[in-house]
Amino acid sequence: MTISSAQALSVLTVPAFDDNYLWLIHDGIHAAVVDPGDAKPILAALREHGLKLTAILLTHHHADHIGGVPELLQHYPAPVFGPHNETIASVTRPVGEGSRVDVPGLDLRLSVLDVPGHTNGHIAYIRDVDGPEPWLFCGDTLFAGGCGRLFEGTPAQMISSLGKLAALPDATKVYCAHEYTLSNLRFARVVEPGNIALRSRVEVETGKREHNIPTVPSTIGLEKATNPFLRYREPEIVQQLINADMLKPGESSLAAFTALRLWKNNF
Ligand code: ZN
Ligand code: FE
Repeated sequence: MTISSAQALSVLTVPAFDDNYLWLIHDGIHAAVVDPGDAKPILAALREHGLKLTAILLTHHHADHIGGVPELLQHYPAPVFGPHNETIASVTRPVGEGSRVDVPGLDLRLSVLDVPGHTNGHIAYIRDVDGPEPWLFCGDTLFAGGCGRLFEGTPAQMISSLGKLAALPDATKVYCAHEYTLSNLRFARVVEPGNIALRSRVEVETGKREHNIPTVPSTIGLEKATNPFLRYREPEIVQQLINADMLKPGESSLAAFTALRLWKNNF
């Protein structure tokens, strides 16, 4: 059965630069990498685990997500999947909303969502949305406790993109691309001080970081309970925005999200 062999897949966390996570999905023999901003740590992890790279998956065009691709291709002639709406020289298999990716070398099928906002063509990859352990690789769109900056897209686009991700099952593991969690949660506490789930999350994640344990992956359920960028309609958050003079009473939820993102940019 496909399901039982798919469960043999696992995801290795490969830290890079100051706070990036590169994800290596593997079955003990073959591997696919998500957003290899740097080739060195990926080549080291492949060597250490005796894996052969058979696919490269990119979420968006920023250098910290694609910078390692040319060097990886020198070692492994892997196909490169990436957003059809962005120009990335190394991409050989452009994909977008509705695409299915049968990942070469692995018993792994991913579906693709367009999630513009951080960049105009940003995509996300999802495994097994109806299965026991859904996975989401969302690059710099949804973060643990936060969301990506709007470098190219609009707040309305980001709201719609985050809405697509929030609609995934609560158990979906969220493999985002940066360890920004504690600073995101510091902001979240200011904008929603009464959120009990958020308070306990801060304790849990702080404990992980004290022991240098990644706070990623998170889950969609946890993000829905604690991430202000999925909770911008909550009365307490709206009130905090009004108190901070970032929003006027009665303004739209688009205005609230926009104000929240702006506040975080300057936090
Ligand atoms: Zn980025
Ligand atoms: Fe990034």
